[in-house]
Amino acid sequence: MSALPKTMKCLTKAEAKKGAWLEERPLPKIEPDEVLIKIERTAICGTDMHIYKWDDWAANNVPTGLIFGHEYSGYVAAIGSTVRRVKVGDKVTGEGHVVGNRSRNARAGRFHLDPDTKGIGVNLPGAFAEYMALPEFNVIPLNDKLPLEIGAILDPLGNAVHTALSFDLVGEDVLITGAGPIGIMAAAVAEEAGARRVVLTDVNDWRLEFASKVAPQTRMVNVANEKLWDVMHEIGMNEGFDVGLEMSGAEPAFNQMIEHMLMGGNIAMLGIPAKPYPVDWGKIVGKALTVRGIYGRQMYETWYKMLALLDSGLDVSNMITHRFPARDFQAAFDLMETGKSGKVILDWNEI
Ligand SMILES: [Zn+2]
Repeated sequence: MSALPKTMKCLTKAEAKKGAWLEERPLPKIEPDEVLIKIERTAICGTDMHIYKWDDWAANNVPTGLIFGHEYSGYVAAIGSTVRRVKVGDKVTGEGHVVGNRSRNARAGRFHLDPDTKGIGVNLPGAFAEYMALPEFNVIPLNDKLPLEIGAILDPLGNAVHTALSFDLVGEDVLITGAGPIGIMAAAVAEEAGARRVVLTDVNDWRLEFASKVAPQTRMVNVANEKLWDVMHEIGMNEGFDVGLEMSGAEPAFNQMIEHMLMGGNIAMLGIPAKPYPVDWGKIVGKALTVRGIYGRQMYETWYKMLALLDSGLDVSNMITHRFPARDFQAAFDLMETGKSGKVILDWNEI
């Protein structure tokens, strides 16, 4: 192992306004139960774009000076004195939610429901850096065959897997609303996991066309131009959808979903509305629908399922549309702002 440098380059929110700042900082110090990861690839998330643009949510939740970024892969560069499960040189990614050990849920092993959770790259120093510290508990070893850039998109893929598998979808008809990266990957997961028909809706033709490269069996519907009932008849559905995955956070999408569900159907909600909106609860009651909120992913059951799905043929490589040297981060953020990209990867060997 080569000696570690004293400093590293990283992207920070040096100022409370739109932008990202390239800085030189000391390497993170690791605690006895922590691992130092040499970051190889990162992906840019919608959350990073909120932080980059410094919108109201970011201003209220993210400290200035923070190194942001939470979708990454890399190699273990150093381990603390009590670390046993991983060793220097291992290829890894990590769960971005760092949990406490005090709450009822954490004590019961429901780590993903711990209210004391802190987020890597949101509350804690993140992955847009050459090096990052992470508790051993959060480290996910990756097998040699998995490309580093796929390792960098397992965080959003985990959201997609957790949402898609929150209800039994084998042989079921599935409606997904919102063709963002997680909605698109949820379609690919639903196909792989044995859904009968998968329909993905959005109002953006570019996004739907891109989605068909990742989830080729899924029927894409621009609900601004096509009626969902017509599409359902066309693909041989004469009742409603059994499972709904709401990924848009948009009022019309959710109300349309309720309208097109089978009686007794199940809805998983991952999309976060920008503000509260009215919902026809009479329909939810009358149709005996179950609506479940989904947050993050299960620690660590979702990771096992996701890595197993990837091992057995789930292919999300087409999700990645652009790759930049990390030093060209500004071009990457500019591209993300256009909305015309899938996952955008930064290579931290080129900073
Ligand atoms: Zn993310």
